[in-house]
Amino acid sequence: MMNGRHIEPPAVETDSDIAIVEGGLSGTLAACMLGRAGYRVTLIDRHRVFPQEFRVERIGGEAIEKLQRLQLLAPLSAAGIPFDDIVNMHKGRMLDRTHDRHYGFFYNRLVTAMRAALPDTVKFVVGQVSGLRTSATQQRISILGQDEITARLLVLATGMGDILRRDIGIAHKSIGERRPLAIGFNIRPLRSNKFHHTALTYHGAGDGIDHLDLFPVPGATRANLFLFRDPRDPWVRSLHEHPKQVLTAAFPSLADILGDFEISSRIDSWLTDIAVAENHRQDGVVLIGDAFLTSSPATGLGVSRLLTDVERLCGDFIPRWMAEASVDGTRIAAYYDDPDKRDMDARALRMGDHHLSLATSTDMRWRVRRQWHFMGRRMLHGMESLSPTVAAKLHQLRTLRAKSAAPSPALDLKSTM
Ligand SMILES: Cc1cc2nc3c(=O)[nH]c(=O)nc-3n(C[C@H](O)[C@H](O)[C@H](O)COP(=O)(O)OP(=O)(O)OC[C@H]3O[C@@H](n4cnc5c(N)ncnc54)[C@H](O)[C@@H]3O)c2cc1C
Repeated sequence: MMNGRHIEPPAVETDSDIAIVEGGLSGTLAACMLGRAGYRVTLIDRHRVFPQEFRVERIGGEAIEKLQRLQLLAPLSAAGIPFDDIVNMHKGRMLDRTHDRHYGFFYNRLVTAMRAALPDTVKFVVGQVSGLRTSATQQRISILGQDEITARLLVLATGMGDILRRDIGIAHKSIGERRPLAIGFNIRPLRSNKFHHTALTYHGAGDGIDHLDLFPVPGATRANLFLFRDPRDPWVRSLHEHPKQVLTAAFPSLADILGDFEISSRIDSWLTDIAVAENHRQDGVVLIGDAFLTSSPATGLGVSRLLTDVERLCGDFIPRWMAEASVDGTRIAAYYDDPDKRDMDARALRMGDHHLSLATSTDMRWRVRRQWHFMGRRMLHGMESLSPTVAAKLHQLRTLRAKSAAPSPALDLKSTM
């Protein structure tokens, strides 16, 4: 019995209760939760210090609520810059202002801060995993040049990396119509030492651009641009060559509202394949975060999704599995079929679909929807100054509608997972 939990003695002796392969955000958060619950956890990652990788750089809303609930907010506050006030723009004009706690950060520093919060019950092993052998009672993890590690359960948190998943017969199937492109860089003010606003979001106008986010990160102002265009598209190429000119042409009045700026870092870009795991209902191994499903970065739901995985798996399923002598595929399947997980995954995919249509569809239905969408926001903003209570109720209704919208047939998760 550990922290009030019953842990069944393993059918076969193992080094750890749980081995987690790769310590990106989801692997590290899972290790934190399980370590705090008293399990013997081994977290294996090929990097002692997490490298600079272009991933999420800004979170707010439900992701922050979930981190708070899991008592994992402190590392985020240590690694990020908080901000609350966002100016939203569309077609050269201000749309509205939103007030909600957000944090801006660099991904590697966030993961580093999360790793610093790992409890002593977690053994951190630096090494390159070269092979996996799984079964209902024992998982064997081979590491180049080191002794093999054994565990009762293997958690795969390898993000978009394919090799280890494929090693045990798990594939990733593309389910997205288009691959969203994310571009990230730093900007700094020209001719003054401060921008007029701390954070700004500029929405696209149906031209394949989803939105541009500008927000504070430690030591800089960061830009994240989300779009649905081919990286070989001439516009994307010229963005890399003449970023300032291309941005000011695509986002009219940006420099007037924010203040004049220059690009002050290299330009990162990342093309995401929207894909879900296949043949994953197996004995002894479970997938979390992007290793299970990648969703569109434009939705800003990646972290919220991986937090649902971590919370459901580590707070509910693993304690039940550890009270059994073995963890077979049927038990593992119950996690993938968990209603909260399914709802969250389906919502992220549905939102991705919505963002794609809003940013690219040129048919009449979507042209009208796009106009209504932004007109509705402008009207709501106007109403806020007249009646904040009515405006808050309408805001709530809009959010509820967005959350419960019926899934499109293309994103029926039951058929894909
Ligand atoms: C450009 C971009 C912008 C994004 N913006 C947002 C956003 O604004 N809001 C939001 O909520 N989400 C966003 N996301 C999504 C979010 O970043 C991811 O959902 C999240 O980082 C996934 O974390 P993870 O731990 O599952 O995977 P990762 O953090 O990718 O971790 C996986 C780790 O496994 C390692 N690995 C993989 N294969 C192997 C192997 N064979 N051997 C050894 N190591 C391996 C990788 O190097 C990595 O360290 C964005 C994603 C991208 C790409």
